[in-house]
Amino acid sequence: MNSTFIYETIGFGKVYIDKKLRTVSDLLQQLKAFYETCKDCKKCKLSEQRTQVVFGDGNPDTGIMFVGEAPGADEDVEGKPFVGKAGKLLTQELERVGLLRQRDYYITNVVKCRPPDNRTPEEHEMITCSYVLKEEIKLIKPKLVIALGRTAAVGLSGIKQISPTKVRGSFISANLKSPVLAPGTKIFVTYHPSYLLRNPNELSNFREDIIKIKSLIDSLR
Ligand code: URA
Repeated sequence: MNSTFIYETIGFGKVYIDKKLRTVSDLLQQLKAFYETCKDCKKCKLSEQRTQVVFGDGNPDTGIMFVGEAPGADEDVEGKPFVGKAGKLLTQELERVGLLRQRDYYITNVVKCRPPDNRTPEEHEMITCSYVLKEEIKLIKPKLVIALGRTAAVGLSGIKQISPTKVRGSFISANLKSPVLAPGTKIFVTYHPSYLLRNPNELSNFREDIIKIKSLIDSLR
């Protein structure tokens, strides 16, 4: 079985094959094995209306992890995160600085099933679903975690009151209540791309954050 096949079977699309093929393949196999155990998850009511569980996408081997809120309608149908309008905006903005999803980063959500009418996930849904993100983090061992918007920042850090307009472009630290990260782990916060679709005047600030993220990634290589 080649790694492209493994990648496709877990819904990742095409793998970027380079010298790290072996490592990528090992990690993908571990992720795949884990996803198999939760693809029929019925731990919360979101399972009743979802089409499918939406796991992460991209290259898990880089240690760069973007985390969003929850799948929307397009993601629910396609089975991949950030493929709708907001996702396309994010992908395009990252490509502007040379960051490609299948090569440079992994992207996932705090909650893996689409909430009805794209409502914000409830706290108990985020907690119930956190076992998936926690395991992704355990396997990937990210060097840089980026929260896209408030729900991701809250779900990652355990801090209940966060305003992305105040903390965007900087790091926050996970607290003792984080269900997925060790206390003190740094999380870089920026806007969720859906917010930018509603507030296009914030695009220039978002682009500043993306440039910072690119520099951070370059410094980690
Ligand atoms: N918004 C998210 O937070 N995640 C997705 O996957 C799509 C839209």
